[in-house]
Amino acid sequence: MGPADGLRVTTIGTAAAYGRPGEVQACHLVRAGGARICLDLGAGALNAITAHVRPEDLDVVVISHLHPDHFIDLLALRVYMVWGPGAGRRLRIVGPPGLREILARFGGEGLGSALVFEDLDGDAPETLIDAPLRVRHRQVPHLPPTYATRIDAGDRSVCFGADCAPNDALAALGAGADVLITECSFGVGAVPAGVMHLNARAAGEIARAAGAGRLLLTHCFPEWDPDEAARAAGRIAGIPASAAHPGRTVVV
Ligand SMILES: [Zn+2]
Ligand SMILES: [Zn+2]
Repeated sequence: MGPADGLRVTTIGTAAAYGRPGEVQACHLVRAGGARICLDLGAGALNAITAHVRPEDLDVVVISHLHPDHFIDLLALRVYMVWGPGAGRRLRIVGPPGLREILARFGGEGLGSALVFEDLDGDAPETLIDAPLRVRHRQVPHLPPTYATRIDAGDRSVCFGADCAPNDALAALGAGADVLITECSFGVGAVPAGVMHLNARAAGEIARAAGAGRLLLTHCFPEWDPDEAARAAGRIAGIPASAAHPGRTVVV
């Protein structure tokens, strides 16, 4: 593959369930082998992603789980695809069972035609793409079911960990990935008891266990400094680590 076909990951939004003024919620855009894959679509992400791709040109939108900060802009995407510039096109939406039913409560027109839903099922499903890529998922502990996603393009790979509590499944899915993207909800703080999220230490430990090449931290609550969290996670992982910045593209 030439450089134009190489694996590129663009951070669209990094905010968790609430954030700083102007922040966009969870969304990453992966481009490789001519395919364009959107990972999550939280609040503000539809507007922000149009700086990089026309939404109707996406091959698939993968929704990791049914917390609104990861899917709520599908409501805006429906309007875009039914009555806006995407009218007449179809867009694949892959996500946990029940996603379509939640969206239908806000209006059903276009669900099943403009937006075509496919349920993720089981512990380790795979999404087939019409491109020389592998798109694999794995359940991780959070709101059940929550799916992490790994994309391989030739010998390059990126793995997005969704939201999760500390676990072994993400390290297994992300084994040897060139770039591992994990949440870091609680930065350098402690994760409150019973809360299914990561902090910098847990993210660093997963990256180390995975043997990832590089760690990108996202989904950090605004009480915590993501750059400080990245330094802490990088020390634990023993690999380069940085906070994901909206608009920034990593060539993998
Ligand atoms: Zn979240
Ligand atoms: Zn969540």
